[in-house]
Amino acid sequence: MFHRMPNDQGQCVLCGWCCTIRSCGYGEWDEVGHKCRFLAKDNRCLKYDEIIRIESLAQNVLPMFGCGCSSTLCNSVRQAKLKSLLDGNNGPSETAIPPPPRGRPA
Ligand code: SF4
Ligand code: SF4
Repeated sequence: MFHRMPNDQGQCVLCGWCCTIRSCGYGEWDEVGHKCRFLAKDNRCLKYDEIIRIESLAQNVLPMFGCGCSSTLCNSVRQAKLKSLLDGNNGPSETAIPPPPRGRPA
């Protein structure tokens, strides 16, 4: 059963799940690896700086990064990463989770 974690405000926690479902407009799908080929092992986006630069030049009002996670519901991969962050980095779940890591969607 899905439980929303305390203090989960929907931010990206670098679980990497979304980039294993399909690539964004900046990515390229890897059929063999079944993920975007720019998804790094630590779940960061290898095109982060490029995307930030492009969207900054375009004055994009709906930026790719920094808008939170659009896949929070029933996302067991994200839930596991969030629990790990809460347990390992911040102790009890009642404490605030870390700020969104740099370099990932949302
Ligand atoms: S946007 Fe959501 S699903 Fe994608 S990596 Fe971040 S937390 Fe995971
Ligand atoms: S955010 Fe980066 S890793 Fe994810 S699909 Fe887009 S280009 Fe690929």
